[in-house]
Amino acid sequence: MLESDSDNNSPLDLWYQERHNDEVSFGLHVKKVLHSSQSPFQRVDVFESTGFGRVLTLDGLMMCSDRDEFVYHEMISHVPLLVHPNPKRVLVIGGGDGGTLREVLRHDCVEEAVLCEIDGEVVEAARQFFPALAFGLNHPRAKVHIGDGVEFVKKSAAGVFDIVIVDSTDPIGPGVGLFSGEFYREVKRILAPGGIVMAQCESPWENKFDLAKVYGNLKDAFTSVYSMVGSIPSYPYGFWSWGFASDNQHPFHKIDLERARAIEKASKYYNVDIHRGAFALPNFLRQKLANV
Ligand code: SAM
Repeated sequence: MLESDSDNNSPLDLWYQERHNDEVSFGLHVKKVLHSSQSPFQRVDVFESTGFGRVLTLDGLMMCSDRDEFVYHEMISHVPLLVHPNPKRVLVIGGGDGGTLREVLRHDCVEEAVLCEIDGEVVEAARQFFPALAFGLNHPRAKVHIGDGVEFVKKSAAGVFDIVIVDSTDPIGPGVGLFSGEFYREVKRILAPGGIVMAQCESPWENKFDLAKVYGNLKDAFTSVYSMVGSIPSYPYGFWSWGFASDNQHPFHKIDLERARAIEKASKYYNVDIHRGAFALPNFLRQKLANV
């Protein structure tokens, strides 16, 4: 939500405020609004902020900012890609800003990275306003498909992807189906033996999402499920979680060190210690997931 705190609507007084719920919000001072449109799926806004650089929001919710997008994109990509011994085909569901593709394609072993984003306007906004992210969308080893990720997965052949990354919006609107047990079972079907799924799983501090249910859905589909956490200042509560699941009992800390050392050199957040430590969960989150 973009709102002015003065009567004269001076751009200097414009603030972006994300209300996480009825009690908590996050605000950014807006320097300039660059784009606002209503796509068939959601409202798309891009603005230049004073503190976090360029920002993309969908339906008023933070998707990425110049200042801290690297945390989310590096962790959702490098962790599964460096645990898998030889990831060749990667599917990204959502992720229309291109940041996840950009990180996936830093791995030379990846022969093809397919992105399925429901909203073509997000991809266009990224191409126009976020060239550093859109680099991934324009990469020769990337294939961009505009459509619903749930349908795309249903129609995909069995066993064709080594990694599936679910880089979705919150479990509301078009993102709901991407957190269901049925969807995760379909994801499992399209994974090759030893495949890994990595799914964004919201902030552990936010009580309005039933994290245990989402991890339970993952667990119904996969034998081995872990939660991983990281710090992202512009996301709700500044603390994020992702679900890492596979059927191959991949220990998340069994990292291909040679490839990881090369990746960490050019990363701003990811390194081998962060990778291992990201699976150490605070007790309140362990308790939330205790019965999963
Ligand atoms: N990092 C972000 C976060 O956690 O807030 C996610 C960013 S990425 C832009 C999320 C994308 O998922 C959006 O562009 C949205 O359009 C897309 N999306 C939502 N539901 C989808 C679906 N059913 N199929 C494919 N893409 C979907």
